[in-house]
Amino acid sequence: MERALLKIHGIVQGVGFRPFIHKLVGDYALAGYIKNSSSGVVMELEGSREDLERFVADIPEKAPGLAFIEKIELKFLSEPVGYKGFEIRKSLVEDKRNTLISPDVCICEDCLRELFDPADRRYRYPFINCTNCGPRFTIVKDIPYDRAKTSMSEFPMCSDCEKEYGDIENRRYHAQPDCCGDCGPRVFYLDKDGVEIPGDAIELARKALKAGKIVAIKGLGGVHLACRCDDAALTQELRRRKHRDEKPFALMCRDVEAVRGLCHVSEDEEKALLSHKRPIVLLKKREKGSLSHVSENGYVGVMLPYTPLHYLLMGEDIDALIMTSANLSDCPIIFKNTEAVEKLTGIADGFLLNNREIQSRCDDSLIWVLNGREYPVRRSRGYVPYPVRLDAAVDEILACGAEQKASFCLSRGNYVFPSAHIGDLKNLETLENYEGQISHFQRLFDVKPKAIVCDMHPDYMSTRYATERSEAEGIPLIQVQHHHAHMAACMADNGLDKPVIGLIWDGTGYGTDGSIWGGECLIGDYEGFERFGSILPIPLIGGDKAAKELERISFALLDAAGLDTGHIENAPMYKIMLEKGFNCPLSSGMGRLFDGVAAILGIKKRASYEGQGAVLLEAAATEAEGFYPFELSGSPLRFDWREMIRTIVRERHEGIPTGEICARFLNTLMEMARRMCLAARAESGINDVVLSGGSFQNMYIMERLPELLRREGFQVWTHSRVSTNDEGLSLGQIMLAQAALK
Ligand code: ZN
Ligand code: ZN
Ligand code: FE
Repeated sequence: MERALLKIHGIVQGVGFRPFIHKLVGDYALAGYIKNSSSGVVMELEGSREDLERFVADIPEKAPGLAFIEKIELKFLSEPVGYKGFEIRKSLVEDKRNTLISPDVCICEDCLRELFDPADRRYRYPFINCTNCGPRFTIVKDIPYDRAKTSMSEFPMCSDCEKEYGDIENRRYHAQPDCCGDCGPRVFYLDKDGVEIPGDAIELARKALKAGKIVAIKGLGGVHLACRCDDAALTQELRRRKHRDEKPFALMCRDVEAVRGLCHVSEDEEKALLSHKRPIVLLKKREKGSLSHVSENGYVGVMLPYTPLHYLLMGEDIDALIMTSANLSDCPIIFKNTEAVEKLTGIADGFLLNNREIQSRCDDSLIWVLNGREYPVRRSRGYVPYPVRLDAAVDEILACGAEQKASFCLSRGNYVFPSAHIGDLKNLETLENYEGQISHFQRLFDVKPKAIVCDMHPDYMSTRYATERSEAEGIPLIQVQHHHAHMAACMADNGLDKPVIGLIWDGTGYGTDGSIWGGECLIGDYEGFERFGSILPIPLIGGDKAAKELERISFALLDAAGLDTGHIENAPMYKIMLEKGFNCPLSSGMGRLFDGVAAILGIKKRASYEGQGAVLLEAAATEAEGFYPFELSGSPLRFDWREMIRTIVRERHEGIPTGEICARFLNTLMEMARRMCLAARAESGINDVVLSGGSFQNMYIMERLPELLRREGFQVWTHSRVSTNDEGLSLGQIMLAQAALK
């Protein structure tokens, strides 16, 4: 007889782990106890050494689907104490908090069956859940993960629920959010003035939706605005009320079949749609011009229902709804009832709310899938707060991200915890959410930063936050270059720690020379980098205005290429500004090149959201052979696009279809990338290429460029755990800070 102490680290709380252990113990002649601790679960077991060892080997093999086992520590203790049977003990509170918290999980099949079973006591109860599904991160106030430390603390369990909760044979054994219609939260429906209407709240919402109303619906991580998607006028009305001109909306479809009615769905995409993370998946429309009021490009973001409420809402007769985050002009998603009614009056025609509080906002995640690989665009609900695991341990660091698509990361040991979607840090509400989320994450993961890292940009709100905090707390501040951080993010995403060639293409980032960068080829590692190549800078006439008024960029491109600009409105003024160098900062941003070409081709002259020119240019691209002439010269090796612009304009005059020109433009960028990488390899001997930056959210390029480089013998690395856009950059900042601290 031996006595052993077992410590299991990973996501082992709130995922049915203790009941699983309880059952597994029954397969062996073992006795003892298990308890949750802040560092995972802890067990003491007695039995023969053989049984103990087989038991430990069984754990990772047989663990429940949502559990994630990071590490098992087994230690034999001196004397058996003579345990009888097996018990689950009360949680411990330790000071070191190492427990990982599960992300929110979509409703499981068992709960779904009960939801629609008239004989079940939770028939049509919109908060049904069990140990295998339901809310997690969004309801957690503190750890360890126990009902008392979640939003459910306000709902004492009824005796029926308590019985299930305490029954080891039950699927709801120790399911912290467990509840039923008698004891749990309830939904209610308010009219446009915020007055509750008696009756079946979900039926009232369904009726309103079917009648063409816009309904605010509180879900898992915040409030959505929903309406029918088959009515272009209604969609326009939603855009008008929400002040959202052209940016695509996402859809929620009843099931995969309904998705297939609208989009092409590959096997991998179906898997992503159905995964328990339930992200929005960007799918190719069945007909390119369809649903143009929902999405102006060839793709539409679609998700499946993920809460019981959503299933009840769609019922059997609603195939698809627009489901867009309820927020006002770039503010964070609304997540409180009072705020919803206050801020959405005049926008929503009705409100389907509930009295379960959301602790942390969490927007829907957005991904796309290519060749079986997931590319996160926005990593939020279903993914957060799952960490990125690193091969080597790092210090406790706070990385403050960039400004657009802001994010932060906290690191400790082998984990980096990336934040949920925050949005653009350009208003007070978003900044407050950013700061609040940082505090919440620090508490949940017990990180006390020993250093803070931020972007070099002096005017980013995140830079100001970092500077103030480092001064207030007397801890070191490390400022890192934007594109170096992108490169490091992609390296960390792939577990690389060696010199690489980094092709970093994005819209904008502050360069070490004070100019704007964004079409870069870097050579380096976590310690430092050399700017090996870049695109010929483009003067941004009027600075920030140029990112919106794209003709300003087309003017600069045409002018530099020695072409006629007379057709452009305001041409004389632009000419004077350029000649005098008045408010014309230089940018080597790849996004600006896309914008300028989109304007030259008449695809988009005024952008209503960041990256729109690039998105529409990609959407317009068809298939075409070859690429345009260009030159690569100088140091840094400059991509001179002037000959390309001249050829584009000539082809346009010759009447070559725009789609073909777009494709050839994209081919030219890829050919430039190929030659730049060859030159970089010739100089450095490095064979690994990482691709990062927002411009790689381009399926045309991502379907072709990695293959093009591989044919030259390069090892090509792309993102899969964090986004390629600025949201993913804080992961790279952690790595650069760690290298700087050493
Ligand atoms: Zn369930
Ligand atoms: Zn109950
Ligand atoms: Fe960037």
